[in-house]
Amino acid sequence: MINMIDYMLRVKYYTMPGYKTHIFGYLVMAGIILLLMDKLIGLHISIEILVSGNVIGILYSILPDIDTPSSKMRKITGRLFLAVSIVCLIAFAFLRRIELIYIPLALISFLYVLWFSRHRGLFHTPLIGILLSLPLYLIDIHYVGFALLGFFSHLILDKEVLR
Ligand SMILES: [Zn+2]
Repeated sequence: MINMIDYMLRVKYYTMPGYKTHIFGYLVMAGIILLLMDKLIGLHISIEILVSGNVIGILYSILPDIDTPSSKMRKITGRLFLAVSIVCLIAFAFLRRIELIYIPLALISFLYVLWFSRHRGLFHTPLIGILLSLPLYLIDIHYVGFALLGFFSHLILDKEVLR
């Protein structure tokens, strides 16, 4: 029984599109949608927003796999969070500001939660995609669109491949 579950999990992992597939998938989808929008309503966004928006789109297109232990996104996040935590703790030793302790605590708790979340768990749900995209509204409304496009292109691609 354990062997069978292990086997099923392994098949699931092996058939999962990697981060390169997700970035490529996003770029194709973003290209089509931007072209269509330009044809239909005329795009009124600056080149800066277009470039930075696509960087956000690419990031969000690999974001869901943060709950996959073997993914690139997970490895980058783990290392980044650890590095930031160490910097904060060193800074705390000198500055003695309590906020500097909260940051590593929050980051490490987040990694701890991730450790126990299975793939296609929380981070592979549309709700999380919307919740993580909406705060970008504070910077620029267009970023919300790019982020949603990235996140949903990931969910679509995962479903297509597993079917
Ligand atoms: Zn995925």
